[in-house]
Amino acid sequence: MMVEKYGLKARLEHYTCVVDLLGRSGCLDEAEAMIRSMPVREDAIIWKTLLSACKLHKNEEMAKRVAEEVLRIDPQDSASYVLLAGIHASANRWQNVSEVRRAMKDKMVKKEPGISWVEVKNQVHQFHMGDDSHPKSVEINRYMEELTSEMKMRGYVPDISSVLHDMDNEEKEYNLTHHSEKIAIAFALMSVPKGEPIRVMKNLRVCGDCHVAIKYISEIKNREIIVRDSSRFHHFKHGRLQVRYTMIKFLLWLFG
Ligand SMILES: [Zn+2]
Repeated sequence: MMVEKYGLKARLEHYTCVVDLLGRSGCLDEAEAMIRSMPVREDAIIWKTLLSACKLHKNEEMAKRVAEEVLRIDPQDSASYVLLAGIHASANRWQNVSEVRRAMKDKMVKKEPGISWVEVKNQVHQFHMGDDSHPKSVEINRYMEELTSEMKMRGYVPDISSVLHDMDNEEKEYNLTHHSEKIAIAFALMSVPKGEPIRVMKNLRVCGDCHVAIKYISEIKNREIIVRDSSRFHHFKHGRLQVRYTMIKFLLWLFG
């Protein structure tokens, strides 16, 4: 359609966009088939997009295959190892989690620690996971605890399957509450005047639990929250994920 009517050729980023949408809606086979049959050469990002979808829909079999494709292109990609380990962890396959960890160690892949940044009154504040180095860390932790119970009252269930380590459920929950983006958002909510949007940057991908949690936080606090992670924007307003208008227009154009 694009080629015939407009004389335009779909580029890799267009395919990535479609794979993302197919993957999110659970059409994993179709997404994989599209990557394998597209006329442009694939990169690690398009495979990683599908890998995230495998995690979302808990498809362990495909995840293994897809992770191999990513690592074939980029053997040092720590995020894919972490995603794959996460998929095994969701299925309680700790043996497989250890194997992935061992493979990372053998290939000397280092997992980058998760760091989030938020700007408050022209000053950038940095948080890492479980961070208590911030001067306001006691208040932030208290705020986060209160917020978490409010979220639970509204139906939030911490997705402990997002935690890679074999620890008990209470520890897993604690671990999740202290992901860097949650701490950054809590701090911003305490410090950014009401009505102003909150913008957080993260060096790694936002995990599934944080994505859901931020949706609840945005709704409870009636705040626009935008998190830019290593692969995309997570944009919430009134607790709803904002699918950009341009994206819909683009798809109508592609398949119209
Ligand atoms: Zn998280």
